[in-house]
Amino acid sequence: MSFSENDRPKFIIDENVGKLTKLLRLLGYDTTFFIGENDTQLVNIALDENRTILTRDTHIQERRLVTGGRVRTILVKSDNIEEQIQQVTAEMDLLNCIKPFTLCLEDGQPLIQRTKEEVQDRVPPYVWQTQQEYVECLQCRRIYWKGTHWKAMTSRLESLIVGKRGDIK
Ligand SMILES: [Zn+2]
Repeated sequence: MSFSENDRPKFIIDENVGKLTKLLRLLGYDTTFFIGENDTQLVNIALDENRTILTRDTHIQERRLVTGGRVRTILVKSDNIEEQIQQVTAEMDLLNCIKPFTLCLEDGQPLIQRTKEEVQDRVPPYVWQTQQEYVECLQCRRIYWKGTHWKAMTSRLESLIVGKRGDIK
């Protein structure tokens, strides 16, 4: 199974499972970290933006919009980030349609391709000399390349989902 662009799942992350935010963005899933005040806001954003709520809070499961089926939630069972990402990717069948290097890890906005020449003055010289592929976030202007932190995160993800999918670089 794979998703069309329109039914590709989107998420809103409760603060009690905040570490899932960057991992889901790394997999290319549109993910918002909830910074509002209360559960009502959380559920309303999920409804308005068609996002699945990820939380450890059982009370959210009892909200009317959730029990009525208008908002989907996943009740995350574990405190452990590795078990969390395994549960979410399995329940939502996410590993069949990952898109690494498409979303900014910090704010979730789309990344666009940059040529090596375009980033010459904006990345450290040793990076420019050794890296060929770059992407930029138009929101925060971060430039990513396929070294250092991306490698660290992708290899961590690989270890989490080993046996389910091969190389995700
Ligand atoms: Zn950004």
